[in-house]
Amino acid sequence: MKRNRLTRFLRWGILAVITVFVTIESYLHVVNGGGSNPSIHALCPFGGLESLYKLMAEGSFVGKIFSGTFILFVITFVIAIIFKRSFCGLLCPFGAIQEFFAGLGRKVFKRKFIIPLSVDRPLRYLKYIVLLVTVAYAWKTAGLWMAPYDPWSAYGHLSEGLASVWEESSIGLILLIVTLVGSLLYDRFFCKYLCPAGAFYGIVGRISPFRVVRDESKCINCRLCSRECPVNIDVQQLKEVKSPECIDCQICVLACPKEGALMLKEGKIALTAPIVILTVVLLFFGSILLTKELGIFQVIPAQPESGETITYEEVKGYMSIKEAADFTKTELKEFYIKFEIPASVPEGTKMKEIGSSVPGYDFDEIKAKNSDQS
Ligand code: SF4
Ligand code: SF4
Repeated sequence: MKRNRLTRFLRWGILAVITVFVTIESYLHVVNGGGSNPSIHALCPFGGLESLYKLMAEGSFVGKIFSGTFILFVITFVIAIIFKRSFCGLLCPFGAIQEFFAGLGRKVFKRKFIIPLSVDRPLRYLKYIVLLVTVAYAWKTAGLWMAPYDPWSAYGHLSEGLASVWEESSIGLILLIVTLVGSLLYDRFFCKYLCPAGAFYGIVGRISPFRVVRDESKCINCRLCSRECPVNIDVQQLKEVKSPECIDCQICVLACPKEGALMLKEGKIALTAPIVILTVVLLFFGSILLTKELGIFQVIPAQPESGETITYEEVKGYMSIKEAADFTKTELKEFYIKFEIPASVPEGTKMKEIGSSVPGYDFDEIKAKNSDQS
């Protein structure tokens, strides 16, 4: 069992490192602007699916999404084909945060709550509706339509301050609070009921050959696997876990006291929990490193070279007014007029920060207007 403890520690270590990394990058993105650090959208593989239609139709990505986001989507798609929703169970930082809150909840309440099956079952279908609506609207509008309603996006912008997140994404913030409070009582609350990415990987994972298999000859029916499963699958009652709800987290396998009673299997191939975790992690980070080496993994906008000319559409929020005017080869005075910036705003102000000193100023809207005219 010592080995299981070590593997649990490894799993948590990986999730913690990813969560801290994404949190720091999102914080720096907000503080420094998008030129040097990726946004939380650029780091979420689901953005790749939202961008798929635009990529196929026009060969470009929707705003805030880059080649690296699409590569993350492809990698997690391939991982789902082999290891089902293991992205959710072994790599997703939002899943990790929910598990952390669930652990906290269990310490506080000294028990694990379970939503009655009659409520739980229909609620699980909600995430498929969210998936359908999100992708349909993202493809139709060619934008991250869901961002204002996305609790993960709200989390990534918390460093802007609660008032600002509330103003830009009140529903996202409410959903974030509901998710965190919900997770205190019910583990993986968002994953189970609302996450469109989880729904997508669940559908793709249906073709995965590997599944958690229970060896009835070794099982002592202690029910530890069922009690520990974060998505409430009654593993002890099954011969093999076929449910698309399974996030391949390996928690049941690691909770099992009988060696070999629970394992991820396909025919004669049986994989131990450490092998599953390390394979998924190697596939994920190995592909990122490889595509980085090939120079095709990009999660921040390419910086214009000094002297290069860009269009109004390519003006970024992290650019100062002066930089944006220089890059678009527009007289500074004319640029102020074109972008409807009051003369009182200093030229060193970042484009995305104009709104904080000019009430009602919407950089994206004015940029779109100028892009249409150019
Ligand atoms: S069945 Fe096992 S691997 Fe699947 S979600 Fe439950 S605990 Fe994780
Ligand atoms: S934890 Fe292992 S031994 Fe206990 S019920 Fe589940 S499979 Fe059987």
